Amino acid sequence: MHRGIVIIGGGFSGTMTAVHLARLGARGVTLLERRDAPARGVAYGTTHDCHLLNVPAGKMSALPDQPDHFVNWLAKHEPGHADAAAFVPRLLYARYLETLLDACGDAVAVIRDEAIALHPDGDGMMVETRGGRALPASKVVLALGNFPPGNPAISTPGFYSSRRYVQWAWAPHTYEGLQPDDDVLLVGSGLTAIDKALVLIERGHKGQIHILARRGLKPQQHAPAAPLAPVLDPATAPRTALGLLRALRRAIKGREWRAVIDSLRPVTQQLWANLPVREKQRFIRRLRPFWDVLRHRVAPQVAQRIEQAIEQGLVTVHVAKLHGFHEDDSGVDALIETPQGRRKIHVQRVINCTGPESNYRNLHHPLVANLLERGLARTDALALGLDTDDRGALIGSDGKASNVLFTLGPALKGKLWETTAVPELRVQARDLALRLMA
Ligand SMILES: Cc1cc2nc3c(=O)[nH]c(=O)nc-3n(C[C@H](O)[C@H](O)[C@H](O)COP(=O)(O)OP(=O)(O)OC[C@H]3O[C@@H](n4cnc5c(N)ncnc54)[C@H](O)[C@@H]3O)c2cc1C
Repeated sequence: MHRGIVIIGGGFSGTMTAVHLARLGARGVTLLERRDAPARGVAYGTTHDCHLLNVPAGKMSALPDQPDHFVNWLAKHEPGHADAAAFVPRLLYARYLETLLDACGDAVAVIRDEAIALHPDGDGMMVETRGGRALPASKVVLALGNFPPGNPAISTPGFYSSRRYVQWAWAPHTYEGLQPDDDVLLVGSGLTAIDKALVLIERGHKGQIHILARRGLKPQQHAPAAPLAPVLDPATAPRTALGLLRALRRAIKGREWRAVIDSLRPVTQQLWANLPVREKQRFIRRLRPFWDVLRHRVAPQVAQRIEQAIEQGLVTVHVAKLHGFHEDDSGVDALIETPQGRRKIHVQRVINCTGPESNYRNLHHPLVANLLERGLARTDALALGLDTDDRGALIGSDGKASNVLFTLGPALKGKLWETTAVPELRVQARDLALRLMA
């Protein structure tokens, strides 16, 4: 029986691992993706032109050793967009990844199916799928990406079974049945809320779009800034969350803050690794929301479109905490707590745009449940992802690193912190492929 490498999840991470394996000469690689098409994932699966990359094209090459690869691809296939400084539509990026995957030819078989369990099988694993397949694997790569958010804690959790509530903003039914003058509440004010508001604006939605910002933070926009060398040196930087915050504040004085934040990119993983667990927890509790808005910024055109919609009165941002919901035939009253006191917002739909759930123990994901139950995987100390060795091998409940199971991408958040965007993931995909072929 032939056993190949099976990659579960065909977003950027899984697709690029497959591409590197094929380029290194691997044969019999299977890429398993439960959605309609691979090479997209949530990020690049959009069909809306208004959804732009939030990283300039010049930094989005999928291949770490060919930095101009994406811009060159644009020059050939979409010359109107071939500008390294431009924020191009995300759906073009999906086409780019598709081209890379197509070039693998027979080396990579793409199967549309969902892995639901792994069964140890001799030296390898048998991958069981929802569609009834049993795929023998010598190695398995989990490239599962981001998961839907958890439901925010409220006084009326029964509301979460309402048909007016959408837990996962990327679900196909998010806008289903929505009337043009329905009012909508987006819970959360990060990149997902911005994406959802944009679609409604572009569709000419007439109803009010309410955005709930718990801390009043909203994504910042990119602006040109001359690059800086890292402003912190991991060898000498403070090893507490507060110490890092103070050092960063000092570094920002008199400088463009975006350049200071971006300068940390090559050293963020090391700064994170140097923090003791207690300090990492403190960072997550106190500083994470601030870090996220400064670090993950939107294209200027996107920020301007949202500002314009706010000025036109189409979008309203509420700085408030969510309390609960009361539903009747006409819609839902969202009860919110503002600095001025409690108030109600009446809407017809509520879309959860809070960040992805990262605690694998809280997920409703059959494969993850199976892995944890069997002890083939365990969560990391911060419950931000999965426990692995330094090169992505899963550590099981016995504390041993597997030589069959590997992961990359958001699952490594606890270990690396910065493991979200293409500039980090492209390196992980290449390095993992090299390890699998060694
Ligand atoms: C809206 C949005 C915009 C973004 N924009 C940018 C950007 O402009 N630039 C940038 O660098 N980064 C961006 N990112 C970050 C983005 O997450 C990464 O760039 C990258 O796409 C993550 O890829 P991934 O493969 O790790 O995860 P995902 O894209 O989440 O892919 C995981 C895939 O695994 C599949 N899967 C999960 N479980 C199973 C299973 N059991 N069986 C089969 N398949 C399964 C899922 O269906 C999914 O397709 C954005 C993210 C989002 C959400």
